[in-house]
Amino acid sequence: MLKDAKIYVAGHRGLVGSALVRALQARSYRNLILLTRQQLDLTDQQAVERFFSEQRPEFVFLAAAKVGGILANSTFPADFIRNNLQVQTNVIDAAYRHGVKKLLFLGSSCIYPRLAPQPIKEEYLLTGPLETTNEAYAIAKIAGIKMCQAYRRQYGFNAISLMPTNLYGPGDNFDLTSSHVLPALIRKFHDGKVQGASEVVVWGTGKPRREFLHVDDLADAALFLMEQYDSEEIINVGSGTDISIAELAEMVANVVGFKGKIVFDHSKPDGTPRKLLDVSKLYGLGWRPKIPLEAGIAATYRWFLENQALVR
Ligand code: GDP
Repeated sequence: MLKDAKIYVAGHRGLVGSALVRALQARSYRNLILLTRQQLDLTDQQAVERFFSEQRPEFVFLAAAKVGGILANSTFPADFIRNNLQVQTNVIDAAYRHGVKKLLFLGSSCIYPRLAPQPIKEEYLLTGPLETTNEAYAIAKIAGIKMCQAYRRQYGFNAISLMPTNLYGPGDNFDLTSSHVLPALIRKFHDGKVQGASEVVVWGTGKPRREFLHVDDLADAALFLMEQYDSEEIINVGSGTDISIAELAEMVANVVGFKGKIVFDHSKPDGTPRKLLDVSKLYGLGWRPKIPLEAGIAATYRWFLENQALVR
């Protein structure tokens, strides 16, 4: 990508999109197209069509998606499947038809079978049943991957698909009903500390294991792959190590400075028992993450404290 290439970041106000904008600006890309939902509703096919025919971006990062944690996904499956299918179908198709040079699609580690062998290799896609708590979202993301592959095969469209592991960082969603576990724990332990609570409740058994990647590392990997990677094969993006939810809770409590008890609510779902991506393909290309988990949590907590007005 030339520094003055016309780059459209779809979803630039979200966790991933805002990190992509930071990474692009830090590398002096100066021709970014950024539109709010009010300016361009990506579920509106005609509006998306008009935007691409008028603006003609050269590169597209498709980071617009409806995302959420285990509770939101299992409560609103219709919204997750409809919204994501609409947005990605509109953007990928219009991007192809209006001459976009390359598009980067973001999937998710939940596209893999619930009981996939660990660490999860890219080739395990569609080899077994999905986790039910986020099946609707996962099916939409799998459709996006298959659409990118089909457009490459039939039309020669240069679309690549990245599968990020669980992401966190500045700009995260801290709302306890819709957030993922890491920002939820930051908020819970912070509130517990401020209120002088004797205990904080963590969902599930604490036994599931998850891998976490700071969103600035994901953005760095996305730019790296936009430059270096041209293949229909999906590629995992992760930190290479996982941690149990109980261990994560200890770590977050420690960073936040909550001294009370951590109790586990077994009536809440655990979701997939383990989700660790095999990142040998990406690391084989020479990329590595830079932000260790504890330092990333501390930075995210600082962001949370300094941006109370923006916190969701
Ligand atoms: P998942 O990776 O798709 O399962 O999504 P989440 O990030 O929402 O949840 C990961 C794990 O953290 C699950 O086992 C949850 O039960 C557990 N968890 C523990 N406390 C919380 C919480 O307060 N919020 C969320 N979202 N998950 C929690």
